[in-house]
Amino acid sequence: MTELTDRYNRKHTYLRISVTDRCNLRCLYCMPEEGMQFMAQDRLLTYDQIVEVATAAAGFGISKLRITGGEPLVRPGIAGLIDRLKAIRGIEEISLTTNGLLLGAQAAELKHAGLDRVNISLDTLDGARFKFIARRGRLDKVLEGIEAAAAAGLTPIKLNCVLLKGINEDEIGRFLRLTEERPVHVRFIEYMPIGHDDAGWRERYLPLARVLEEAERLGIAYAPLPDGPAGNGPSENYRIAGAPGSFGLIHPVSNHFCASCNRLRLTAEGDLKPCLYWVDELSVRPALGSPEAMRELFAKAMRIKPENHEMAALLAGTSQSHVPTERRMSQIGG
Ligand code: SAM
Ligand code: SF4
Repeated sequence: MTELTDRYNRKHTYLRISVTDRCNLRCLYCMPEEGMQFMAQDRLLTYDQIVEVATAAAGFGISKLRITGGEPLVRPGIAGLIDRLKAIRGIEEISLTTNGLLLGAQAAELKHAGLDRVNISLDTLDGARFKFIARRGRLDKVLEGIEAAAAAGLTPIKLNCVLLKGINEDEIGRFLRLTEERPVHVRFIEYMPIGHDDAGWRERYLPLARVLEEAERLGIAYAPLPDGPAGNGPSENYRIAGAPGSFGLIHPVSNHFCASCNRLRLTAEGDLKPCLYWVDELSVRPALGSPEAMRELFAKAMRIKPENHEMAALLAGTSQSHVPTERRMSQIGG
């Protein structure tokens, strides 16, 4: 029985843990190409501290963890952390979100440590375009990472594809066809205005209704997949007739899913975020070492969690009821 029920009767069973704000890419929707200030290593929660917070959270009803970043695999020793998190009573599933660059080298070790599955970010299947979007790294390394994850059994593999107007919208069909070739779940994600200049976001934001329009234009027959692949969360899922894979739409802007939100986020420096979007954060640091203080902290997160975000207000140009976070997505974890 979860203690983590908020004022809107939402039960929280899912904690996303960011382990670093650093990254080996500079995706244009996530952080600037130059000048990003990363936090000093001594401001990161240590693995002991992360395990302490996760153990407390499991005691309050959290059963699913996701490790994220920045790029989580740039922090040394992630497999060891996963091994410790998996041993916590009440933790049933651990997943990881990664850009895939370092998965080739680490997938087998991560699986061995107890990682259940991975979400790999893949916004394009074109090498030159990858350079434009991610500004660093190489597409073939990501593809190698996907192969390594599949070979290691980190399945079902989910591919996160952020759709960007005028940049990768012409690849919707290609990603849909990928689900006919491979047993992967492609998750199309709306570009969210997190810690950005709003003008840049407005220019590139694309509502996901575009995906189904494109499927119809291409004559691709698909049907809803009510149960979806494992741990489908807010994704609205579909399968093309006869395909081994599937696809999903995650549309936080055009049609938010806050009413079913079951998640909390922990930043790499130790701030608990009740909502991705708003500024409110509660530092876990003063509560470390005190189970009672930790319980009160999580209870407070439930008390202050808002009913919903208001990303769409930015499109409509209407005012917002509260203050959005200034953090970049890489400083939260997605
Ligand atoms: N570095 C890892 C990666 O890219 O998968 C994990 C961290 S990244 C912040 C987590 C997810 O957030 C990625 O799938 C990324 O594409 C997505 N993301 C980042 N900025 C976003 C934005 N402004 N809107 C929507 N999704 C975003
Ligand atoms: Fe790095 Fe992930 Fe952000 Fe891209 S989306 S810059 S890979 S943290």
